[in-house]
Amino acid sequence: MIKAVRGTRDLLPPDTALWNHVEASAREVFRLYNFHEIRTPIFEETQLFARSVGEETDIVSKEMYTWEDHGRAESDRGQSLTLRPENTAGIVRAYIEHKLETRGLNKLYAIGPMFRRERPQKGRYRQFYQIDAEVIGPQSSGSDSAVRDAELLELLATLLDRLGIKGWTLQLNSVGCSNDRAAYNEALRKALEPVKDNMCVDCQRRAVTNPLRVFDCKVPEDQPIIETLPRISQFLDEPCSQHFEQVQSILKAIGLPYQLNDRLVRGLDYYTRTAFEFTHGALGAQNAILGGGRYDGLSEALGGPSAPGIGFAIGEDRLVLALSESAESVQKKPDVYIAPLGAGMDQEAARLARELRSHNIVAELGSESFRLKKSLEIASKIGARFALIVGENEVKTDTFALKNLALGEQLSVPRVELARKIAGG
Ligand code: AMP
Repeated sequence: MIKAVRGTRDLLPPDTALWNHVEASAREVFRLYNFHEIRTPIFEETQLFARSVGEETDIVSKEMYTWEDHGRAESDRGQSLTLRPENTAGIVRAYIEHKLETRGLNKLYAIGPMFRRERPQKGRYRQFYQIDAEVIGPQSSGSDSAVRDAELLELLATLLDRLGIKGWTLQLNSVGCSNDRAAYNEALRKALEPVKDNMCVDCQRRAVTNPLRVFDCKVPEDQPIIETLPRISQFLDEPCSQHFEQVQSILKAIGLPYQLNDRLVRGLDYYTRTAFEFTHGALGAQNAILGGGRYDGLSEALGGPSAPGIGFAIGEDRLVLALSESAESVQKKPDVYIAPLGAGMDQEAARLARELRSHNIVAELGSESFRLKKSLEIASKIGARFALIVGENEVKTDTFALKNLALGEQLSVPRVELARKIAGG
């Protein structure tokens, strides 16, 4: 038997109703904050991720699904392509390619699958879904302002609250700009030099090539060493400190609680200044529902114009796990089950179903080969509110037996009143 590939999964009803509920709520909230949807391809040139996310990150060095294309055209052949492991790089690529800077401030969102070859476990998959948002534009559009950071964080709190997700924590940090980062990396390199030989091989390499990435290490034995390393908060220059102060002062003004965490550096190289995660207690080891931050130099690093930006990615799989609502409670049940009774009634039932659906009644259709008892059993099983019986007499008189399945009452209803009756009761 062929099964879904390890780390991928099928999303089935009724769970898909929950997913749709989450996505519909997200779209509603994005609308409130004047975001618009963008859809980028799920594969891109490998270089895009290497240059933005960073060669030395776990994502790029270990987790990407990359292949060499065997296109017919000369220009396709040998091109290295990658299934997107995250969405910001693709969106910034699109920003540059379509010269979106001419539109001023862009507030974009996207919903779709991402791919990383990670060790699968609860809340961690190889194909997972993200809800992304990015605010990006030229400096003159105010895209670098702390107002944007606070607005994005507030949007996230609003979405989580609307979804009824309780007990989240906002972890906040500033990872500084390239100046601060150079000084900080140097300090890390110095501090790591005498201790790196006692660390895992990955950290020994990171200590030399990209010391900041040591904080991504998950090896338990390395943690006491990592704990002693210098903190980024000591290295922020004046403009970065001020920016961070301003983000915090707006969060205080709007009453959005947060925890400072100067160990939060996120696993992608492009972040500058504000970095954040929302965590949730009920998720166990994989407790980050979402993460994001500023990436003021990313557009330039990809050959584009100066375009400060900030964004986030919500792990939709984890968001759904954190919902207290059940899939059954959000799944829409049929309004009516139409039960044809006796030979020749399938056509009549189909006509009625078409009429009722044109009035937005959710109708499920039975078969004349079923006895009434079986039809009523199916109607109850699928949770229909009414059963509509379509027999020869009913068709002749154009008046139908409508049974309210919860109350057990049965009424005789003229055809013209069916839709109103079903919608009303
Ligand atoms: P990142 O792009 O690594 O910052 O991830 C943003 C969010 O995506 C995380 O906070 C998770 O909620 C989610 N996420 C990342 N990787 C996975 C994965 N392998 N499976 C499920 N969700 C993930």
